[in-house]
Amino acid sequence: MKVTRAQILANGFACRCPNCGQRTLFRTGSLFSVNPTCPTCGLRIEKGEGTFLGPFVINYGVTAFGVIIPVIVLYALGKLGAAATLSLCFAAALLGPLLLYRLSWGWWLMLYYFFLPDNLPANLEGRPEDDE
Ligand SMILES: [Zn+2]
Repeated sequence: MKVTRAQILANGFACRCPNCGQRTLFRTGSLFSVNPTCPTCGLRIEKGEGTFLGPFVINYGVTAFGVIIPVIVLYALGKLGAAATLSLCFAAALLGPLLLYRLSWGWWLMLYYFFLPDNLPANLEGRPEDDE
């Protein structure tokens, strides 16, 4: 079975395994504990130390560029007061990463395999070099 880039995008936005499409990125009953491998298809989700950096960068980028910088721009334009700006930035800094944690893992795997779809185990099967 060949996984297309469209399926990789759909699975990524739905926070599903990019290989099999199941909801297996996180351990059952846990909000933040990532499975080292997909229990259904065996795809390695945590590829060793430093794997968290991809989701971390996505999480940080969305929080900083999507919330904190626009709030600071509103303050600079005089649309928000200092207390409101500080409160919104503080709340975004605390809640943004928590709310985006699971999505950022799905998005990271989506980006990785969108650009390297041949690295998915489902796409490795049937490659010409496998027949040798
Ligand atoms: Zn899977």
